[in-house]
Amino acid sequence: MNIAAKIEQHLSQQSLALIKLISNEATSLGQTVYLVGGVVRDTLLGYPNFDLDIVSEGDAIKLARRIAETTGLKPRIHSRFGTAKISQGKLSLDLATARCETYNRPGALPSVTPNTIQADLSRRDFSINAMAIQLNQKYYGDLLDPHHGKEDLEHNLIRILHPQSFTDDATRILRAVRYEQRLNFKIEPETAHLLQRDIPMLDTISGDRLRHELLLTLQEQYPEKIIGRLGELGVLQQISLPIEDTAGINNTFNIARQVNKSHNLPWLYLCLLIYKLSKAQLNQFAFRLKIAGRLKNILQDTIDIKEQLPLLDNPQITNSDIYHILLGRPPLAIQANIISSQSLAPSLHLQLFLDKLRYVKPLLSGEDIKQFGIPSGTKIGTTLKLLLKAKLNGEITTRQEEEKLVSRLYPTR
Ligand code: ATP
Repeated sequence: MNIAAKIEQHLSQQSLALIKLISNEATSLGQTVYLVGGVVRDTLLGYPNFDLDIVSEGDAIKLARRIAETTGLKPRIHSRFGTAKISQGKLSLDLATARCETYNRPGALPSVTPNTIQADLSRRDFSINAMAIQLNQKYYGDLLDPHHGKEDLEHNLIRILHPQSFTDDATRILRAVRYEQRLNFKIEPETAHLLQRDIPMLDTISGDRLRHELLLTLQEQYPEKIIGRLGELGVLQQISLPIEDTAGINNTFNIARQVNKSHNLPWLYLCLLIYKLSKAQLNQFAFRLKIAGRLKNILQDTIDIKEQLPLLDNPQITNSDIYHILLGRPPLAIQANIISSQSLAPSLHLQLFLDKLRYVKPLLSGEDIKQFGIPSGTKIGTTLKLLLKAKLNGEITTRQEEEKLVSRLYPTR
């Protein structure tokens, strides 16, 4: 079957130009090249995809270097894996040498050896991701579909290629659910049975790989659908994310999309996802998924702030008290609490901090205060704190008022 017309119809002009160039260079090097994976699936579905995955039956690095010479684009080469990555604006191109994989033990990263395109397709996760389109001139557009992926696409099915698939690599469990929910497909019954059987195999997957898959899930358009399904299947529990009621996130994720326009939406989703966990549960989850650094701090702060909400529920609380409770807390953790907290007063106080209080500063500097005859040292710091407090609480606003307050504090000088 030839689907050249579909490629021309659904890929961008930029992608097509790059593909033509690769095809020419590969032919001149005597290599056979194929478009593989997600871009083939999406082209057949008529969806746009700017991630071109190209496999060569030949040395992909040599090909990448040749493309770099012709275009001036700089490839990132990974000699160990025989792969190269080239980016051009929105477009990203991955070049790899066709290979087969063997798993020395479940969950381990596979050993890889160069092989044919057929072997390369057989190592893939699902039939709909195991198709290739040949790109060399004479055969341009020929579809290779040894696992009947096109038929599964037509029947909206996610199907693994062999019964050991989830045992070999249990991250495919998360991937299966991700594609099922993204594409509105169904996991084919035998695959669903094996998926359920192999959920304990998630224990063989490293924290880094699990974290990567979970963050990919949170980059989807409607991650709550995927999370809901993972919860039903018992996957969340298995990866140390004991969330009993995933329905609650339908609402919070929806609000997050409306209020957060930054690139940090996946992290905000994660804060909302762990919101109901205790500190101990969060620590266990972070340990399992090797979540560290800034992300771990944000998640911990989310729970810390949640535990402080009763303090912020006081209608008499002063702005300076709000300021000191929230000072230094990451905006994402505060935002997660605004979205998830059930009562109005704390949310309003959190929002006030985010929008205004965190930016408040006295107009007078330490140097200015010295002019009042106050020697440098702790007194300057104390005075600045008093100015800040008065300013936060709306007692003073102008520079003159600040000066007046300092003179009142130290009348004899
Ligand atoms: P998308 O990026 O739209 O989610 P994709 O198919 O491009 O989909 P990638 O994660 O970029 O997904 O992977 C590219 C291809 O590599 C997949 O289409 C699949 O063929 C293969 N692949 C990725 N992960 C695995 C895995 N864990 N096991 C087997 N094959 C995989």
